[in-house]
Amino acid sequence: MIEVSPYSENKKGSLFVVGLGPGDADMILPKVAKVISSATDIVGYGPYVDRIKPRSNLTIHSSDNRVELERARLALELALDGKKNVVVVSSGDPSVFAMASAVFEVIENGPTEFFEINVTVLPGVTAMLAASAAVGAFLGHDFCTINLSDNLKPWDVIEKRLRLAIQGDFAIALYNPRSKARPDGFKKTLSILIDEGVGDRLIAFARDVSLPTQNLSSMKIVDATPEMADMRTVVLVGSSYTRKIKRDGVENFYIYTPRYYGE
Ligand code: SAH
Repeated sequence: MIEVSPYSENKKGSLFVVGLGPGDADMILPKVAKVISSATDIVGYGPYVDRIKPRSNLTIHSSDNRVELERARLALELALDGKKNVVVVSSGDPSVFAMASAVFEVIENGPTEFFEINVTVLPGVTAMLAASAAVGAFLGHDFCTINLSDNLKPWDVIEKRLRLAIQGDFAIALYNPRSKARPDGFKKTLSILIDEGVGDRLIAFARDVSLPTQNLSSMKIVDATPEMADMRTVVLVGSSYTRKIKRDGVENFYIYTPRYYGE
């Protein structure tokens, strides 16, 4: 029998890696809220730890965006040092382009003591699911997710995955679509979609989903421009079945992908 033992007893310190959801505090899982309320230390990227209310017996370790592995190592060292409840926070879900993998990468390459820490990952509502729900059921059938940042993987891989996702007729959620340091990737993405012959499909831009500043827009891919996306936007690209439904005289509309396929 293969033993899977993340929760075994007799481990040193506890490390939680949790998701804070897309931004609305009411979208944080009760279990995550409970772990945060008994945390001794919070570790995370500045804007995410800013969502945690300071209190007297809580130490907040805020860091820069690009230092994920250092941040993971700091959290593991705090847990080894005997800090009781060290909590690493990510936005959305901690496994989706976020801190959970960084923690395991540091454990894999670190000292044996890191295996003696009790690590628990708690999920959160990831941006694409909050965005899909905000417009209706955009991701209602088979879909895939691509991170457009080429900081950690070559652009060739991104382009290949985009083309294959379109050829597989998936709906696609695009994370990290466009930043100041990477202004061209999303422009190239739109050209690839048009080159694959799907310019008449729906695309939706969901910015600041679940926050008071939330902004949702949708159009045909051919009518989209690169400036519609930034780092606070998740972009949803429809499959051939994704549709917008509305009624004459009613402003409201929904976008959904039906669950059936073919006849
Ligand atoms: N772990 C996060 C993703 C981190 S990558 C999650 O599961 O959601 C950061 C990217 O997530 C952003 O560039 C953006 O594409 C997306 N994102 C995160 N929160 C968002 C929000 N509230 N609204 C729109 N996009 C969001």
